[in-house]
Amino acid sequence: MSDLAKGFDTLQIHAGAGPDPTTGARQVPIYQSTAFVFRDADHAARLFNLEEVGYIYSRLTNPTVGALQQRVAALEGGVGAIGCSSGHAAQIMALFPLMAPGRNVVVSTRLYGGTVTQMTQTIRRFGWSATFVDFDDLDAIRAAIDDDTRAVFCESIANPGGYITDLDAVAEVAREAGLPLIVDNTSATPWLCRPFEHGATLVVHSTTKYLTGNGTVTGGVVVDSGTFDWSASGKFPSLSEPEPAYHGLKFHETFGKMAFTFHGVAIGLRDLGMTMNPQAAHYTLMGIETLSLRMARHVENAVKIANWLEKDPRVDYVTYAGLPSSPYHSRVEKICPRGAGALFTFAVKGGYDSCVKLIDAVEIFSHVANLGDAKSLIIHSASTTHRQLDANQQVAAGAPPEVVRVSIGIEDADDLIADLDQALAKATA
Ligand SMILES: *Cc1c(COP(=O)(O)O)cnc(C)c1O
Repeated sequence: MSDLAKGFDTLQIHAGAGPDPTTGARQVPIYQSTAFVFRDADHAARLFNLEEVGYIYSRLTNPTVGALQQRVAALEGGVGAIGCSSGHAAQIMALFPLMAPGRNVVVSTRLYGGTVTQMTQTIRRFGWSATFVDFDDLDAIRAAIDDDTRAVFCESIANPGGYITDLDAVAEVAREAGLPLIVDNTSATPWLCRPFEHGATLVVHSTTKYLTGNGTVTGGVVVDSGTFDWSASGKFPSLSEPEPAYHGLKFHETFGKMAFTFHGVAIGLRDLGMTMNPQAAHYTLMGIETLSLRMARHVENAVKIANWLEKDPRVDYVTYAGLPSSPYHSRVEKICPRGAGALFTFAVKGGYDSCVKLIDAVEIFSHVANLGDAKSLIIHSASTTHRQLDANQQVAAGAPPEVVRVSIGIEDADDLIADLDQALAKATA
């Protein structure tokens, strides 16, 4: 890629890839190959010793996945990235080098439903735990951090409730405690929010959503800012001390700001195997080429539709930070100046029953458990994505029973409004 490529719209098309060196293929090919031939025995040994970076085996590295990793790292302003099989895999991969049995992560209550379940239940099998806190209460975050805390975790724009985290303030609390801040930037994408500019250490994405943008493949990425000093506190021995899982290699000393990325590939992907496949990477690369254009339209449509809904007497309230009525409206300019995303909830008069009727009545909106598609999507979170949560957790997560969540697509806003209009009529008749 030319050194001239600096702007977001150029990087989303060119970062991480150029014409294929052997064939001239202009689009990044799907390198559908498990293994890659070594030049000679010395080359193989150097690769395995991490003295040279190259392709060995696709559980670790693959050229198509590699192009995507570099592209997302460039868009986020990070030094490296690790492609994973899903967003949930990326979350585990982000925590893995930091955590150990008995350690905990302090997390926001406002998270994707599946992440709440992953953090409350599944990580306990590894001996890890999560402490849930309201991230608007900085003292509560400080109080939740103890000697065993190894990370702080939140979403930039939180799914599903139209909530925006004050990343700068949370990052400062993490910094005071000597801890990395991990931000799930799925709902915002780097076009709306760049968490590293607000003090985050790592960013995770479900590339399944806006980055791919067409609902075809699942994937995830962990991006490293390269700015955290893993050796300062002695709390991150996998990175600062001799790593027994890699013949005693000291990752931070050896790789400097690339320590986390190298560890993620050499140990995380090698031993956990939550690897992105090259076909998924290819679809996501194609999607990313139009990310900024899509996000601009997503936001434009979301603003129109949220404004229309808020004025409708059949709607009790709309939680979209893009509306001046939102308590989080003042954070838009600071955290995501191009807009508050395209994900919000609204409460239908008549509560749970009306929500269910509305979902059965829509014609253009699709009733699916997904978000960030070009198509407009709708779901009743309390009975689906947030069903495993108890009533208090549902309210804390922004998914009480009286709201439906919409992911506004890039169709004609007028058609989407007409669809919601006719569905609301049926739901509240
Ligand atoms: C979808 C999603 C995830 C999980 O990603 P998968 O690719 O489905 O595993 C995590 N966080 C957020 C904010 C999401 O929207």
